[in-house]
Amino acid sequence: MHYLGIDIGGTNLVAGIVDENYKIIAKFRAKTKVPSEPEEFADDLVKTVNGVLKEANLTLNDVPWVGLGCPGTINPVTGVIEFANNLYFKNVELRKLMQERLGGKEILLENDANAAAYGEYIAGALKGSDNAMAITLGTGLGGGIIINHELYSGSNFAGAELGHTVIVAGGKPCTCGRDGCWESYSSATGLIKITKEHMKDAPKDSALWTLIDGDINKVNGRTAFDAMRAGDAIGQAVVDEYIYFLGVGLTNMINIFQPDVVCIGGGICNEGETLLAPLREFVAKEQYAMNSAKKTVICKAELGNDAGVIGAAMLGVKV
Ligand SMILES: [Zn+2]
Repeated sequence: MHYLGIDIGGTNLVAGIVDENYKIIAKFRAKTKVPSEPEEFADDLVKTVNGVLKEANLTLNDVPWVGLGCPGTINPVTGVIEFANNLYFKNVELRKLMQERLGGKEILLENDANAAAYGEYIAGALKGSDNAMAITLGTGLGGGIIINHELYSGSNFAGAELGHTVIVAGGKPCTCGRDGCWESYSSATGLIKITKEHMKDAPKDSALWTLIDGDINKVNGRTAFDAMRAGDAIGQAVVDEYIYFLGVGLTNMINIFQPDVVCIGGGICNEGETLLAPLREFVAKEQYAMNSAKKTVICKAELGNDAGVIGAAMLGVKV
């Protein structure tokens, strides 16, 4: 059995064929043309479908459906992209457009962060759980929620926007229009901002400045962690502040949902236990259910960038 999924990003379309062991056996990439007309967009997706099928030496009949993980508010029931700001789409009937081009093939759609969470649930760090949550620390802070083995996205499919919950009332402005969103503090972008703010206080000969050759534009998500490892006190302060805000938001989520597992993905997770150990300690001290025998497991996501493709491909599989 083989499955086909496409992770639709603002920059790339990544299609994959997934086998029954949830392994990607073929991949095909194309650039996302933005902006484009919906018809042209569907044409490009069809080319991507055909590209990955050819790569795997399969035909459309060999897969049960085409699964699409798409940014924005996606209605999986109607198959409509209701709103996707980075694709400049509003009420695009993507399922219909795809079915017209693929002989009525079943098309499954889901929000991309939800699809990635589903991938981790089917094949990665959330496997075997009843209730789970995935968060991804990237340009933004994406999330997905699994309740009783199913994706939860609310009555209008716009839910699970974990990153847009406020953790500092009146805090830093967020791209969504609110101030103080979790995303503004705990995304990779947020970490870079916190690092840059603290650098004003760091001596020019400190590890923090040396690591980036004195060029503040070279600050990335690793800079503060590397400085901390080099013994830099301000690097340590940045990491402590970052983990504090990440922990505040994560504790909120755990207090609401008490999932079996939360997995954390994105580049910052390559810090591994340097990030996770103090984060667990923070949550253990702060969470409401601190005395419960069963507590949420906090771990690293396992599938990396493949989570979106695997999740999209497996959308029709219920476990
Ligand atoms: Zn926000």
